[in-house]
Amino acid sequence: MSRWAYVNGAYLPHGDAGVHVEERGFQFADGVYEVWAVMDGRLADYDGHMARLERSLDELRIARPMSRDALGFVLRETVRRNRVREGLVYLQVTRGVARRDHAFPSPEVRPGVVVTARSVNRAAQETQAEKGVGVITLPDQRWGRCDIKSVGLLPNVLGKQAAREAGAYEAWMVDELGLVTEGTSTNAWIVDAEGRLRTRDVQSNILRGITRAAVTKLAAEEGLTFEEKAFSVDEAKQAREAFITAASAFVMPVVSVDGAVVGDGKPGPVASRLRRLYLDRARAEAV
Ligand code: PLP
Repeated sequence: MSRWAYVNGAYLPHGDAGVHVEERGFQFADGVYEVWAVMDGRLADYDGHMARLERSLDELRIARPMSRDALGFVLRETVRRNRVREGLVYLQVTRGVARRDHAFPSPEVRPGVVVTARSVNRAAQETQAEKGVGVITLPDQRWGRCDIKSVGLLPNVLGKQAAREAGAYEAWMVDELGLVTEGTSTNAWIVDAEGRLRTRDVQSNILRGITRAAVTKLAAEEGLTFEEKAFSVDEAKQAREAFITAASAFVMPVVSVDGAVVGDGKPGPVASRLRRLYLDRARAEAV
């Protein structure tokens, strides 16, 4: 089946789609992105991702490329043209094309916009969630503004590759105090040895995960004891449960950390329940 990409106003065959050589996203990673899960052809956590996109753009002083409604239309049209029912839609907005110079172009140029969509095998993902996944840990080498969803992802790329080479699903990054910050493309959680659900607070240089926020709400509704408090690698190894959250993984149970088995080595009850609740809620509210 043919794939389509949206690039700066046109829907193009995926294989022919491209950007200018002086596109600042390409030259400087001067851009931001968002990813929505597609459920039944609709977008999950639509408003949350859109709000984070606008915040990322504002923080970098990149102009909004079009109205929210117009952008929503482009996202859905890209999903529709690619016949994606279950999958992901990716949006990138950059500062645009200009002669190569580190400072912002003056006068401003039009932001660059790229949208792609692809299908995900939900059955395979579900099988993976039933078994749980492994993570490795490595030093967090990123910059001080990880709250901005920037396309500058080199440390994340290297971390994910290290995970893949170690046979793990994800790499958890660890700060200079030995505390886990987050995964390369996911937020990190545990149910600690005392039974408290824990994840790092969003003030401390991590991405403000939209799935994280939704799961936090569900945990409150479930009456779970929840703390926004960072945890160490040792605490994760000794935890009752661990899991990660992201639009690309929903709630994915973690059953090993650096090869050490977490809990009884199977997805725990809290992670499994939160996954079910998240999926039901996100699917019902997708637009
Ligand atoms: N942390 C990082 C570094 C990410 O890149 C992502 C998603 O791409 C997440 C966390 C999860 O965020 P969300 O739940 O909004 O997908």
